[in-house]
Amino acid sequence: MAGIIDKTILITGASSGIGEATVRVLAQVGARLFIGARRTDRLKVLASELGDHVAWSALDVTDGADFEAFAAAAEARFVRIDALVNNAGVMPLSPLAALKREEWRRMVDVNIHGVLNGIAAVLPRFVAQRSGHVVNVASIGAHMVVPTGAVYCATKYAVWAITEGLRQEHDDIRATVISPGVVATELGSDITDPQVADALKVWRQKSLTPDAIARAIRYALEQPEGVDINEVIVRPTAAGM
Ligand code: NDP
Repeated sequence: MAGIIDKTILITGASSGIGEATVRVLAQVGARLFIGARRTDRLKVLASELGDHVAWSALDVTDGADFEAFAAAAEARFVRIDALVNNAGVMPLSPLAALKREEWRRMVDVNIHGVLNGIAAVLPRFVAQRSGHVVNVASIGAHMVVPTGAVYCATKYAVWAITEGLRQEHDDIRATVISPGVVATELGSDITDPQVADALKVWRQKSLTPDAIARAIRYALEQPEGVDINEVIVRPTAAGM
């Protein structure tokens, strides 16, 4: 695992699901991890379980200044930043006709602006050091649209496009988009439409566990400098679409 040992990696949305699993997998292979989310009680427990090479700070990815402070704190703790995993996301699915404007706004804020805020926080450092790696967690929803998923999928198509743009604009900086299929996590617990919440339970009957996505993230991160894994799609074997 020479590609990961002693690298400093920032991970957002580390308080549950894929983010938490990624912290565990990367800690096992010797990374220094600076982890963020809003539920700091969970971050604290996770970091204390894993040891000194995992540090945490409160982070709301929708706030650019907060993200900048998060990156500065990571640098102060571990001297440099080698990679950022933009994982935080929300998925309050609903049909467009329900006009859930606040939920649309929240998805755009977290899933798109959150990713852009992360890129803004690390990119000047990566340009200056002429290396760095941004791993963005999109979704199978970056490749297909389903009813009730119009806005969520739109945000994930955006994550795909932002990652590809970043890749094209820099010769020294790696950009990876990871697109998970259905994974058993807390995602969607903010769905307010009972019928949609029931449909999600059916989708989840064929799902991955979060460590499957964490291993794909590790695979992208452990490659040598000259190798950029551009995209990985990971679905349950039994998934029909
Ligand atoms: P979880 O709900 O378990 O995790 C989401 C994470 O995002 C939490 O740690 C949450 O932390 C964090 N988060 C949400 N809003 C903010 C915010 N404003 N600032 C900082 N952190 C925030 O879901 P998953 O692990 O499944 O989701 C991780 C990523 O994977 C998301 O981008 C999701 O879209 C994507 N994905 C998930 C799939 C699935 O089936 N589960 C499929 C495809 C993609 P906190 O609330 O503590 O701030």
